[in-house]
Amino acid sequence: MLLTNATLLSLANSTVQRADLRIEKGVVTAKASKLKAVAGERTLDFSGRFLMPGMVCGHTHLYSALARGMPMPKKVPRNFYEILKYVWWTLDRALDDEADYYSTLVGVLDAARCGTTALIDHHASPNFIRGSLGVMGEAIEKIGLRGVLCYEVTDRNGLRGAKLGLEENETWVGKNRGPMFGGLVGAHASFTLSDESLGACADLAEGLGSGVHIHVAEDPCDQADCTAKYGEKLIDRLADAGVLGPKTILGHCTHLDSASLDLARDAGCWFAHNTRSNMNNAVGYAPVHLMGRQVALGTDGIGADMFEEVKFAWFKARDGRNGLGIGDVAGFLTGAQNLASMLLNTRLGMLEPGCAADLVVLDYPTPTAVTPQNLLGHLIFGMSSQFVTDVMVNGKWVLKNREVVGVDEERIRAEAQRVAKKVWRRFQQLPARG
Ligand SMILES: [Zn+2]
Repeated sequence: MLLTNATLLSLANSTVQRADLRIEKGVVTAKASKLKAVAGERTLDFSGRFLMPGMVCGHTHLYSALARGMPMPKKVPRNFYEILKYVWWTLDRALDDEADYYSTLVGVLDAARCGTTALIDHHASPNFIRGSLGVMGEAIEKIGLRGVLCYEVTDRNGLRGAKLGLEENETWVGKNRGPMFGGLVGAHASFTLSDESLGACADLAEGLGSGVHIHVAEDPCDQADCTAKYGEKLIDRLADAGVLGPKTILGHCTHLDSASLDLARDAGCWFAHNTRSNMNNAVGYAPVHLMGRQVALGTDGIGADMFEEVKFAWFKARDGRNGLGIGDVAGFLTGAQNLASMLLNTRLGMLEPGCAADLVVLDYPTPTAVTPQNLLGHLIFGMSSQFVTDVMVNGKWVLKNREVVGVDEERIRAEAQRVAKKVWRRFQQLPARG
């Protein structure tokens, strides 16, 4: 397939370039100012359109997709711990296989419409653990996106829950080594994991040649718990357990000090920054300016619109006066692409020969020229997911002329509403559990 006459945008190296692309077997095989179609090759003309690499969400929870508009819990949460207790730890217990499937499906539909082509997810459904990642994989595959999945190991659901969680990670990671699906060992957070469970997560990840995906100091309660129970710094507990390493993702790190961040960075860890979620949970602004280059932007379950998320990341950086430049913040988007590339054994985030054919077409009616110098200004102040018309993943169109390819989207959304009603009913009936 030949894609011609588009303007290619690259955030990774800040270029704006008129060029044609040849796509074969899911990979970009040629890029030049003018490519001639060979016999039998289909040519698609994208004159006046912009093409950019697919976006990646570096940390999300697809299981929260059916929580949109959900009735508030009977008790109004007053802090982060209560938000978990009354909302998310009740919602996750209300999920069954059907709910996992539809919440993933609608979450992925939304992602595709926003030009997000890969998702790094952290999943929990304590009453449906075994097989849950497989069900999510089916839903992601139906739409055609890429996914790095993990199951959240925690002691909240007893020994059996923790054991089933470990097994689910082992099964999934063992079978999925890229390029469409990958896996990590999911761990909830230090404050819900005993030494045994945390160590088991690290050991499993090591045995599988994988990493751990864990929430870290999202709120001060995580460190406070660690100090009270173990008398040590949270990052030292994670280091001692063997959690830190180059495939490990530390979510949030809102309340880690600079020495802790240095330790994690030196171990090669990745940081997932979720600006909107942190604002929504009022947990504070993460010291993202101290995290180095391995920062991946995530949504933490607030959809998968990375155009939207990066705007907030930028405005929060401005508001927080942390000295980050617009290039640093845009780097969180390319960070997520680099992270997913490593975890999926492929090359995302660039439209160069040899890279994966994951791309987004924008019909962006700009009133001013787009240049390498002002590309990031357009990203923050002009572009948005409303201009996404087409999306390709692995050389296949998943969105064509604003229509999701190969699925009956209306029917899926109607089914999701039916399933959501059941989830909400169970949510309202379940007693809160800390
Ligand atoms: Zn999260």
